This record gives sequence, C-alpha cells and structure tokens, in this order.
Amino acid sequence: MSDGAMSIRLKFLQCCTASTLVAITAFVGAAGAWAAPLVLEEIVPGVYVHAGLVEETNPQNQGDIANIGVIVGDEAVAVIDSGGSAAVGRSVLRAIRAVTDKQIRYLVTTHMHPDHVFGNQVFKAAGATLIGHHKLPAALAARADFYKQSMREQLGPELADEVTVTLPDETVEGERVIDLGNRKLTLKAWGTAHTDNDLTVLDAATGTLFAGDLVFMEHVPVIDGSLKGWLAQTPELEALPASRVVPGHGPASAPWPAAIAPQTAYLERLASDLRQTIADGVPLADAVETAGRSEAGNWQVFDAFNARNATAAFAELEWE
Ligand SMILES: [Zn+2]
Repeated sequence: MSDGAMSIRLKFLQCCTASTLVAITAFVGAAGAWAAPLVLEEIVPGVYVHAGLVEETNPQNQGDIANIGVIVGDEAVAVIDSGGSAAVGRSVLRAIRAVTDKQIRYLVTTHMHPDHVFGNQVFKAAGATLIGHHKLPAALAARADFYKQSMREQLGPELADEVTVTLPDETVEGERVIDLGNRKLTLKAWGTAHTDNDLTVLDAATGTLFAGDLVFMEHVPVIDGSLKGWLAQTPELEALPASRVVPGHGPASAPWPAAIAPQTAYLERLASDLRQTIADGVPLADAVETAGRSEAGNWQVFDAFNARNATAAFAELEWE
C-alpha cells in the first residue's frame, strides 16, 4: 500500500463505523492504493470490456490506461490484455470473478506495450495459457529492462518492482482459432503496424473485433512499428467481418469499420506532411514540429506522442 493510501485508510479509521471500514479496506487493498473500483461493462452478451483512462500512465491511474476485454464461453473465459501493472491485473481478475467463476483458459496479448502486458503474471498464476504474436517474445524481452525502468519513473518502485515481465506460453503466426466452449475466437497476427507484434481477436458469435492498438480512438495513435505498414494493412483490417470494435484506447466499443476513420485521417496527414517536408529539404528537427500538427484538436495526449510519431515516420519515409 502506498503512503497516500495508508493515510486515507487511517483517516477512515478515525471516522467510519466498523462495517463501512471493512468495505473501504477491501476497496483500498484491491488495487494496492486508492483507486476507483474497476468496471467491466457487458457490451454484448458474454463480452465484457474495461475501458482504461485516456491518459499517460501516472501514479493515480496505476497504468490503467488500456482497454481490457473478457469473453465468456460455455466452458471457459478468455481475457484480452492484462493492464499496465500487476495491481491492475488483480483488479481485473477480481472484476471477472464478480461476473463468472468459469476457468480463465487464455490470456491473449495484443502487443508488447507495458499498459497491455504488465498484469500478465496475475493471469499466469490463475492458470491461464498466455498467447501472443510470434514476434512478441523477442520484442518484449528486448525491451523488458527499459519498460521496467520507465515504469519505476512513472509509477514509483512499489508498483514497478512487483511486476515480472511475463512472456507468452504459445504464439500465433498467421491465424489461430481458440474455443471457449461453443464460442470460437479467431486470433490474427499482423505485419508491422502499431508495433511488429500486433494481434487481433475476432469473436464471430457477436461480430466483435478486439483490435488492440491497431485501432486508437480519442487517444492519438502511437507509431512504434511502421506508418506505411499500418496504412497498408488498414483495408484488410476494415474488411474483417465485425460490426463493432473494441479499440486499444478510447471507448469500450464503437461501430466498425467507421471507428477507424479518424485514425486513418491522422496517419495519412502525418505521412503527407512528412513527404512534403522531405521533398522541400526541411530538416528532421523542424519537420517534427509541424508534421501532423493540424490534427492536434482531434486527439487527446497529442503533444505527448505526435513529435515521436513524426520522428519515427520521418526515418521510414526519408528513403522512399
Ligand atoms: Zn500500444
């Protein structure tokens, strides 16, 4: 428990009745610090989503910034992404147990980023088989120390040091179907786009696509793979037989494929701005200040990521 949470708890010790205190203590202890109870929204029968906050990771949100999916079949449960800390993973597990006691058979990881994988150990301990893209193990292993150090700086040592970077047990190349009992999910490994290890999950029974960070809404898209690859694969993504999408960041769900249009507009704007600056001989340092800037009003956390996106994409487009 953090010092802040402890002081809150002590205040309640002074003011609350015994029964209220039990409830509050459970609440505080659940997430490891003072945090809102984690909400799982049933978006269609048997499909639950926890919508993370559209923010950067900070001590208040504990890394609870990515969307998390839970699909319940006749026999078992699949969880899609595990949250940005073990504390978030534990809260997700508790929320799942409030809606079903079925076996958690799979944890599917949509890609390597810490806000999607740092709760993995909780589901491993709960007996789930961890599945990811065939390039996920190498990508995550290579970045594990850096991610842990970043987490220590963002969240402090208490939350960071308990995280064990936990790699998948099984990987997907191309497609794989998993079955939860009368409920088949199609996992698809994509070429380099948001990262080099993006994986989507399609629930055919409800036409629900879990896109991971191949689809951003509200939160500005983040390029950690290939701008050109992302745009090139967008038509194939749009053609998937789904009527709704759960984006990696943003609302719990949205109509598909309409939901991806703002992201495509941003990526195309960034690409065309950068191509123009490259053609004009504008140096990188100046180009990243202007490229994509006209999109700023359409997105949250824009200033945290746009210049980084432009830097990454400049290097990619410079050699066309
Ligand atoms: Zn990501």
